[in-house]
Amino acid sequence: MKALVFRHNFAREAVAKVRGALSHRAFVAPPAPTRLEEVPEPVPPAASWVLCETAVSGICGSDTRQIFLNGRLDNPLTALLSFPHVLGHEVVARRSDTGERVVLNPWLSCGPRGIDPPCPACAEGRYPWCRNFDRGTVSAALHLGNCASAPGAHAERFSAHTGQLFRAPESVSDETAVLADPASVSLRTILLHPPDPSAPALVYGCGTLAAAAVGLLRYLYPDIELWVVSRPGPRAALMERMGAHAVLPSQPEELVAEVARRSGVRPLVPWSRHAWLQDGPGVVYDTVGSPETVETSMRILATGGTLVISGVEPAKRFEWTPLYFKELHVIGSNAFGIEEVGGVRKHAFEHYFDFVADGLDLTPMITHRFPLRDWKQAILTIARRRRTGAVKVLLQP
Ligand SMILES: [Zn+2]
Ligand SMILES: [Zn+2]
Repeated sequence: MKALVFRHNFAREAVAKVRGALSHRAFVAPPAPTRLEEVPEPVPPAASWVLCETAVSGICGSDTRQIFLNGRLDNPLTALLSFPHVLGHEVVARRSDTGERVVLNPWLSCGPRGIDPPCPACAEGRYPWCRNFDRGTVSAALHLGNCASAPGAHAERFSAHTGQLFRAPESVSDETAVLADPASVSLRTILLHPPDPSAPALVYGCGTLAAAAVGLLRYLYPDIELWVVSRPGPRAALMERMGAHAVLPSQPEELVAEVARRSGVRPLVPWSRHAWLQDGPGVVYDTVGSPETVETSMRILATGGTLVISGVEPAKRFEWTPLYFKELHVIGSNAFGIEEVGGVRKHAFEHYFDFVADGLDLTPMITHRFPLRDWKQAILTIARRRRTGAVKVLLQP
């Protein structure tokens, strides 16, 4: 069967990076480590795993970052990955044993690894905090899509532990169902620090996680004032369509000035000329997570405010004095598990399908769809997203 494979190799990656500086095509052509290959049929690694037929898979920001080799060699998570692997973890599929249409919770935590009793994190449903990502029936990996012995979902078929599969309600389209994973990521981000109704909330970014955060914030907290930071263009228009009250400029100095104007506060101008504010949004959900967005968030946050970071750009030096001076709170946000909404604790996917039944629609963020064989075109469409407006791009085997 056909599958999108990533073969880690320092020499190939070095060549692709050099050529990639000139054209993104270098990341989807040999000798780059990502290729569409003919691979053997997946074999369920244990009796509790079943074969699944992929209907549609979503290209995650983590997939594209990996394909574009936008990572650093000192990333601590390389301790918990195994190569080569088939990419892909956002998926709607058909279970081969029951015929049910399902969505995948990709996390390879204690349950899928056959570890019983589970670690305390898994026992509480905090699967991304699992302590056993390098033990059990499959090789080291956080989730399907970065595991050498359990291939991911950008393929015709994959196998998964039955506990990873959630039935998609019949009334829900494949497009709605495939967003269960990114919607759950942003749900967790919001639940880590819900917005305070007395101050505006700000979402930084204009990709999938930002669009999901905007849709969910407007659905869960309809009365808050919601701003989004985005470059101009089709993705900024999408953020308004998802419910943002205002789209603010992404250039940091312009953004600080605009937040100051909207908040009616006086910017403080230091020697560096990089102005900052003592009042502004009470919470920033940073779905980019770059040194620039983290630093700028700290400049515009209200004193005592909270920055929740779900984006994962590589780290670099940034100016963090406002962190201590304004006594800001910084929270990292990683994926999802059992989450509590309105006093009800259940898996984020189950909350998502409840919201959908109640009218939430995040599907406007699906901008493109390609056959799996045209994966290069899909990746290049994402690379040129400022022009193409690509947000969530789907692949179909
Ligand atoms: Zn993802
Ligand atoms: Zn665990």
